Amino acid sequence: MESALEAVVGRGGSSARPCSGERYTVNVVRISGGEMGFTKYQLAADAAGRVKDACIVWVNISTGLSETMLRAAAYHEIVHVAQALYLLHWRA
Ligand SMILES: [Zn+2]
Repeated sequence: MESALEAVVGRGGSSARPCSGERYTVNVVRISGGEMGFTKYQLAADAAGRVKDACIVWVNISTGLSETMLRAAAYHEIVHVAQALYLLHWRA
C-alpha cells in the first residue's frame, strides 16, 4: 500500500495531502460489506460554501486480501486520494 501510494504520489501526480503529518495513515482492518477499502477525507469550506481545502484523514484497506487484490485495492484508494483534490472549489 505504501509503495503503491508513493508510486503515484511521488511521481508528482496530484493528490490531496494527509491531514496530519507527511505520510498517509493507512490501516489494514476488517471491513464489512465486502468493500476492499475506504478513504476518509476531510473538507474545509469557506463562508460562501466553497470547498477550499481537502485532506486525507485515513485510508483503510481490508484484511485478508490476496497480493493481487491488495494492489488493486491500493490503487483504487489512491484514486480517492486524488479525487479529494477535485472537490476543491466545488460548492458544498
Ligand atoms: Zn472506492
